[in-house]
Amino acid sequence: MNHPIIIAGPCSAETQEQVRSAAGQLKDFRLPQIAGGGRISFFRCGIWKPRTRPGMFEGVGEAGLPWLTAIQEELGLPVCTEVASAHHVELVLKAGLQAVWIGARTTANPFLVEEIAKALEGTSLHVFVKNPISPDLNLWIGAVQRVLRYGPQHVYAIHRGFSDYHLGQLRNAPLWRVAIEFKVQMPEIPLLCDPSHLSGDTAFISELAQRALDLNFDGLMLEVHPRPCEALCDARQQLDPDSFKDLMCSLSWRRSSPSDDSLSEEKIIIDAIRTRIDVLDDDLVDILAQRMSLVDQIGQVKKRGGIGIIQIERWNTVSSRTRNLAAAKGLDDAFIEEVYKAIHQQSIRRQEKIIRE
Ligand code: PEP
Ligand code: MN
Repeated sequence: MNHPIIIAGPCSAETQEQVRSAAGQLKDFRLPQIAGGGRISFFRCGIWKPRTRPGMFEGVGEAGLPWLTAIQEELGLPVCTEVASAHHVELVLKAGLQAVWIGARTTANPFLVEEIAKALEGTSLHVFVKNPISPDLNLWIGAVQRVLRYGPQHVYAIHRGFSDYHLGQLRNAPLWRVAIEFKVQMPEIPLLCDPSHLSGDTAFISELAQRALDLNFDGLMLEVHPRPCEALCDARQQLDPDSFKDLMCSLSWRRSSPSDDSLSEEKIIIDAIRTRIDVLDDDLVDILAQRMSLVDQIGQVKKRGGIGIIQIERWNTVSSRTRNLAAAKGLDDAFIEEVYKAIHQQSIRRQEKIIRE
């Protein structure tokens, strides 16, 4: 298989000792599943930290640059750090670092991206562009295109999920379909996944990382801290080096080579489309579950108020509204009617159960 791109390291540089300890424990790691390779491609470490709210640790700033240069020079591990302005790019170049990432909050701002892209002109830096915080595919693609216009040779994208006011278990909503659409529209740009920022919690990292590999992502960015519980930011989502290594070894790394004889071109295309269908099915099931949970809430209210379950006017409204929506999308009328009848029946069964309890 092609070598996956693995980026690992702490969320932020805190002390020189912490940076050195993290890098020291990562530098010799090799993925046993991948012959002759699978090493850490870049050591990640932020020094300018974009914090959503003021008054939190905002990074050690420029003072951390010599620590990162030392990691490259003494441990031979290429370093990647976040840049949010042209000035940051200049300082990173002066320090001789090999890679930068543009964070989600910066990607959302075309003025800043343009300024950073210009500063990258003529450099050999590897540039990773995270998705913007909102699920705006064009804003993400636009940021990558701005960078590409100034000619860096190595440009990548990172899926780190999207902010969502209605938070579930995860810190950010994965909306895998947005990442897949990015891949469809920008097939030449390697796409990585950042399960650390997606999840916000180490408990979910393994599942998300495997999902990304199953979806043919080209690599992973993971936060690894020598002592996560002492981390000055993002403590819950940082793995300790041993857990990181265990995770890497337990993942099943994808077969990526379409030249494998057993794979016809049709099979590859079908697999790719099926993957996209699976992602939509996830969303469908999730939306059905959310819908049923609201139905349950109404069931409780009906129970308290002694109100009957079936209200035919409401059902008629739902039915005609959804049939109109479906017609506008080219869906068959009989089909959508059948789907909504099934949903309605199930809603009634759930409310009956609630009222009987
Ligand atoms: C980070 O990688 O440390 C970071 C701040 O990420 P994001 O821009 O994805 O929030
Ligand atoms: Mn972080």
